Amino acid sequence: MSAAKPQVHVIGTGGSIAGIGPDRLDYMLYSEIGDHLTIQQSLDRVPEIASFASVTSEDLVSVGSTAIGATEWLALADRINNLLADGSPLTGVAVTHGTATLEETSYFLHLTVKTGKPVVVTGAMRPPTAISTDADLNLMDAVRIAASPHAGGMGVLTVLNNEIHSARDVSKANTFRVETFRPNELGFLGYADSDHQVVFYRAPLRKHTTATPFDVAGRDSLPRVEIVYSYAGADGAVLDAVRQLRPDGLVVVGFGGGTFPPAFLSAAARAVDDGIPVVLASRSTAGRVVNTPRKEEQGFLVCDNLLPQKARVLLMLALTVSREREWLQEAFLEF
Ligand code: ASP
Repeated sequence: MSAAKPQVHVIGTGGSIAGIGPDRLDYMLYSEIGDHLTIQQSLDRVPEIASFASVTSEDLVSVGSTAIGATEWLALADRINNLLADGSPLTGVAVTHGTATLEETSYFLHLTVKTGKPVVVTGAMRPPTAISTDADLNLMDAVRIAASPHAGGMGVLTVLNNEIHSARDVSKANTFRVETFRPNELGFLGYADSDHQVVFYRAPLRKHTTATPFDVAGRDSLPRVEIVYSYAGADGAVLDAVRQLRPDGLVVVGFGGGTFPPAFLSAAARAVDDGIPVVLASRSTAGRVVNTPRKEEQGFLVCDNLLPQKARVLLMLALTVSREREWLQEAFLEF
């Protein structure tokens, strides 16, 4: 292999992109069966990758992404930070991951990896054993983007269905379609296209990677932040029960730009009174949640336009720096 080729390291974690189903018609059971190809076996299916990148690989874990959480996020951030430390010969890193929690892992890495080099996360909606799998294409695209001189400085990117997204904005929007990853109304960043080009049309503006204060090296856990969802008639009893768990923070999910059932909001205010930072988020899938003088006086924080699961990731990280209210609110406006 030519030394002139970009060097990309691929980290496998499992997920549908590595899933082994019972037959070619299976798009669901493989997930429960839980068998996965190794990342090397996945790469062996796409020998074309060797024509444009020199690839090394490792399996970090081999699980469905429903089983991924803070422990795996910390291990991934640590590994990528080591791989891309000053003097690294790598051009970039690609990560394969289940689609269920891909958006959370990606945003966590977006805020914690300290590099201007490309870091790209991909998954698949159809396992490699199924007819019309998207596993091979998505893996190839991820390596292509990680090898691209255009993909640096953008923070962590995701790619499925040839579409490149910012980790901050991307979310899984459809249960089964291959075009499931959507950018929360804001537009994706570019394409990994059929002429083998990686093309960008826009770049993220919010701070990420080297511009964040989040240093998770040496940590083995993160603050506990729970999400509580509201609905017509929610009386706050569940929120009160969660409050008894004494979480480090709460994200509460309401309606539209930041309204809640009155009894639910009273329960949220009791959590603030207990000293728990409470972030207001929305069950609307796009748009900002804004504070009001009254809610500010009650001590609530707002998530800006982050989806609840992303707001949780940011609050977990922000709480590693400070519990001070103004700093926490600023974090939601900056990252
Ligand atoms: N069960 C899978 C997961 O690991 C789903 C997927 O990858 O699409 O998240």
